[in-house]
Amino acid sequence: MRKLTIDLGNVAHNLSSMRKHIGPKVKVMGVVKADAYGHGMLQVARKIEAEGVDYIGVADMSEAQTLRAAGIKTPILAWLHDPEDDFVSAIKHDIDVAVSSQEQLLRVTKAAELAGKPCQIHIKVDTGLSRNGVTIDELEELLIQTKEAVANGLVQTIGIFSHLSSTGAEEDLSQIERFELALAMASKAGISFELRHLTASDGTLSYPQAHYDMVRLGIALYGLSPFSDNRAQEFGLKPVMLAEAKVVQTKRVQAGEGVSYGYLYRTPKETTLALVPVGYAEGLPRNASGKAEVSINGKLYKIHSRIAMDQFVVDVGDASVSPGDTVIIFGEGGPSADDLATAAETINYEIVTRIGSRFNREYIG
Ligand SMILES: *Cc1c(COP(=O)(O)O)cnc(C)c1O
Repeated sequence: MRKLTIDLGNVAHNLSSMRKHIGPKVKVMGVVKADAYGHGMLQVARKIEAEGVDYIGVADMSEAQTLRAAGIKTPILAWLHDPEDDFVSAIKHDIDVAVSSQEQLLRVTKAAELAGKPCQIHIKVDTGLSRNGVTIDELEELLIQTKEAVANGLVQTIGIFSHLSSTGAEEDLSQIERFELALAMASKAGISFELRHLTASDGTLSYPQAHYDMVRLGIALYGLSPFSDNRAQEFGLKPVMLAEAKVVQTKRVQAGEGVSYGYLYRTPKETTLALVPVGYAEGLPRNASGKAEVSINGKLYKIHSRIAMDQFVVDVGDASVSPGDTVIIFGEGGPSADDLATAAETINYEIVTRIGSRFNREYIG
């Protein structure tokens, strides 16, 4: 009664659209953290590996380990580490480790001694997002220690990277400047990196001058715009996720009937109500009540009443809607994830990533 269709063909299409934007010289890291933003990490990783993506990016080491255990051979970078993360196992499974501090470098070198093999690292520089990464002030010391670790055969310096705040052009450009400074410091310290990478989907589209050697693409692969203005099509992107359900009951009611919890809505006249088995457990945000629209038989209807955990009710007036009719919650042919995000005062990333587990998933393409 609830169906999620994931079109992996569109993932391949989006990857190739983005490759057209960035040109042939720049590598692409496909980001599949958080279950590939709700789309299914292994399925997406296998697809982009088959499409020849250069790198795969995840936040957690456990995500990287899951990918390796499933047979993914593409280089993988993990960047958000638990203070106890096992870098020995990362080295054994050929997982690149982002290093954000001297403390992490120390743990990496200890792990390399235990593993008997150097650790492949990407130095993460905080150029102004203030999340992980070494600050410019501490970078010089980290570079000195890195050089020593290289000399001791404990690390291989594969990459250096940072992440933009997407606040606005002024802020982003000043982060790019700081990244340039970091690169100059590294080169002065005599360390070379094969992969300098800075931009995610938004920066990749906005700042062609900052593609460096590789870009890291998440949301664009899933066919959604990184900007909040529903421009995915303009960038040649096609949505990958389609969330649908079936109407499970319809009923005729009189004027003045209260509908769903708290009676946010009362029927203005005699009408037909349709019950749809999707709620906030499915990731349909409760605060989209009264604002989100869904599509039934090609027509848009606002969800006037309160979205509950498992279900919501739509007033379909006198339209002929019957149990079994398909309701598009979002995706191709219905409202976009952006439309739902706007209704819920959030971003399309959150809509797809928080998609619930009760949808039956079908992979196509
Ligand atoms: C999530 C993430 C990305 C991908 O961002 P999108 O906006 O989805 O393209 C890239 N780099 C880092 C460090 C991230 O955390």
